[in-house]
Formats: sequence, structure tokens, C-alpha cells
Amino acid sequence: MDDMNFELPEELRQLKDTVRKFVDKELIPIERVARDGHKLKPEVRAHLEAKARELGLAGYDVPQEYGGLGLGLLARVVVWSEMARSIALPPRASDIFGPNVSPILYHLEPAQKERFLLPTIRGEIKWCFAQTEPDAGGDPGGMRSTAVRTGDHYVINGMKRFITGADEADWGQVFAATDRAKGSHGGISAFIVDMKSPGVKLLRPQQTMMDDQPWEIAFEDVKVPVENRIGAEGDGFKHAQNWINAGRVRHGARGIGVIERCLELGAGYAKQRVTFGRPLADRQAVQWMLVDSFTDLHVLRLMVYQAAWKYDQGQDIRIEAYMTKIFGDSQSFAAADRCMEMHGGVGLTTDLPIEKFWRNQRSFMITEGPIEILKMTLARHVLRSYG
Ligand SMILES: Cc1cc2nc3c(=O)[nH]c(=O)nc-3n(C[C@H](O)[C@H](O)[C@H](O)COP(=O)(O)OP(=O)(O)OC[C@H]3O[C@@H](n4cnc5c(N)ncnc54)[C@H](O)[C@@H]3O)c2cc1C
Repeated sequence: MDDMNFELPEELRQLKDTVRKFVDKELIPIERVARDGHKLKPEVRAHLEAKARELGLAGYDVPQEYGGLGLGLLARVVVWSEMARSIALPPRASDIFGPNVSPILYHLEPAQKERFLLPTIRGEIKWCFAQTEPDAGGDPGGMRSTAVRTGDHYVINGMKRFITGADEADWGQVFAATDRAKGSHGGISAFIVDMKSPGVKLLRPQQTMMDDQPWEIAFEDVKVPVENRIGAEGDGFKHAQNWINAGRVRHGARGIGVIERCLELGAGYAKQRVTFGRPLADRQAVQWMLVDSFTDLHVLRLMVYQAAWKYDQGQDIRIEAYMTKIFGDSQSFAAADRCMEMHGGVGLTTDLPIEKFWRNQRSFMITEGPIEILKMTLARHVLRSYG
């Protein structure tokens, strides 16, 4: 029998070390001044992108066949969790190592890849992902946007909301019902929509408490050529599972970095802050907060590494992916909350990153699949397996 091995392989330990040094040296010192609002300042972006190229990490998230490094999920998890120790970069925007294109990689035709995917990977054009609507978020099968085929094009009508990066996007991966009666099982199709087309209207940015400012958009009689449909009609969600799984593991990976930084901040402050004649670190209430976060960190790391390893073996990780998002988002929020508590008033200020971790991690419990909805689906598995 093979030994069980819970250690990262040597090359991933080195990768982890490299990214950690980069975060400590380049990101943490500038994390409160790196941005104008939600966006990185152009000069900061240029500097960080150059550093990313120096490190050899540019394109780490892009498959080799498209010119990237094509790192496996376990390696990407290592990068994501280390990067999450700092609030310098917007957590949902494309990062300095190159665009996140996983949702659009699958089942584009060669001509679509040439026109849209490759320039996006090269950073020449930008894209957004437009699925959520006022009446359909956690349950996208209920979407009301329609795409009606007339001859060699479709006409799209509907509203989308919470669309990140819509203001900068040259094109959008837009979902619309081609047969509403069928819902998500064969009724929804995905399209490549030129965001400058007549009828695409950016209505308003939506101010959220997290580090993101998505947009509300209207599509009014937007003509989309048939060759811009992604996959077959009705297959809009067919290829989603693969990247959704990896995306959920990414939530868990982000949680690792957040808990680690909260532990660093919390333990440091607990030793230094004296109340009633003794450091906070002497108080059991504070010790237990640190221990709870530390234990969650250990559990989360095991969960995330195992899910990523299994994914890299080509195995189905749907169940693990649900659990990593649920546990990762909620326990990293809990760690930020504890860290805030033990810092007292200073934890609420923008002098420290804690309030931003707190707002972001709370938000991730809702975005990209609210925890309650993931639990509903996971419950079906539990009932089937144990009932
Ligand atoms: C900052 C931000 C950025 C975003 N970016 C994008 C983007 O780029 N593209 C995109 O398409 N979308 C985007 N979204 C949308 C996001 O993914 C949705 O908000 C999310 O999926 C939840 O959908 P909803 O808001 O419609 O909530 P709903 O589906 O209406 O659910 C509301 C709440 O009800 C509860 N609930 C719902 N169903 C159940 C159930 N069956 N059982 C128990 N409880 C339930 C949950 O607590 C849930 O939080 C973004 C959202 C935000 C806030």
C-alpha cells in the first residue's frame, strides 16, 4: 500500500515560498495605496505585472496550449492562497499574472478562440461574465433574458445585474434563454456579445460593501450573429461544471490566505496589547479565538489540497468543491471577525486590512453561489449516501 502523503511536493513548496516573498515584499507594503477605488493604479499594475513576469508566473492560470504555464489546480491553489494574504489586489478582478479565462476556455470554436479567446489571454481585450439577473441569481435556470433566432442571428433582450468588469469589457459571455420552458436543462444558451453593439446599455454601477463594483446592464434588441453562440443551442450550462468546481476550490484557497494573515495580525497584536495590566495573549478568551482560527486553517488546508489533488488526477470533485466553498468562505469570515474583535477599535479602521477581509469574506458567502444553496445541493448527496 502506498503511504499517504500530506506534504506538498518540493516544487510546490518552492512556488509557495516564491509567492509568499512576493506578497510580503511587493503587495503588503502598498496594500492601502495600490488602488484608486476598485481598480489598481496603472503604474502599480505595470510594476506588479513586470514583477510577475520576472518571477516566471505570468499566465499561470492559462493552459499551455494557449501560451500559458498551465499549472495544475494544486499549484494554482498554492498561488491563490498566498496571494490572498494581502488586500492589495481586487479579489475578483483579473489579477496581475494574467486574465482568468477558465469559464470561457471550453467549447469555443477555433474561429471564436482566434477572435476572442487569444486576444483576451494576451491582454489586448477584456471580457465579462453575464449570467445573473434581477429575477435569477442563485437559480440561474429561472432567467428571463431571451435569445430569439431570426435567420443568421439571435436577438437578445433582457436585464443583467452584478456584472463585474462590464464597464471595461470588449465582449461578454452572455447567457439567455433560447427555450424558457426547459430552464437550465437545455433551455439556456451562451453567447459572445460585443459589448459595444447597439442595444447594450450600461445602466449603473452597483456599490457593494466588497471590493467590487459590478454593473447593471440592459440588452435591448441586441443582434448577435449565430456564429457567436458558444456550443450548441441549449448547452449554455453544459460545460460549466469543470470551472465551477475549480472556482469553488479557489474560494477555499483564498480562505487559507485570509486566515493565515488574520492569525499573523491577531497573534502579533495579542502579545503587544496590554489591558488591565496583562497582554491580551494571556487571556483565555483571546487564546481560544486564535486556536479556533488555527484549527480551521488546518482543516481548510487539508480540504483544499485534497480537492485540488483529486481534480488534478482527473477525478470528480463536485462534493469536495461544495464543502471547500462553504467551509472556506464561512471560516475565513469567522477568522476575520475574531481578528477584528481582538483588535478592538483599531480593527475597524482602514489602518489595517482586517475590515476589508471581513467585508470581502462575508460577501463571498453570497457571491458565486450562496452557502445556503450549496448546502441544499450537498444535502441531496448526504441524504442519498446515508439515508
Ligand atoms: C460584488 C458582486 C459581483 C458579482 N459578479 C457577477 C458577475 O460578474 N457575473 C454574474 O453573472 N454574477 C455576478 N454576481 C452575482 C452573484 O453570483 C449572485 O448575487 C449570487 O449568485 C446570488 O444570487 P442572488 O443575489 O440573486 O440571490 P438569490 O438567488 O435571490 O438568493 C438570495 C438568498 O436567499 C437564500 N436562498 C436562495 N435560494 C435558497 C434555497 N434554495 N435554499 C435556502 N436558501 C436559499 C440565500 O441565502 C441567498 O443568499 C455578483 C454579485 C456580487 C454581489
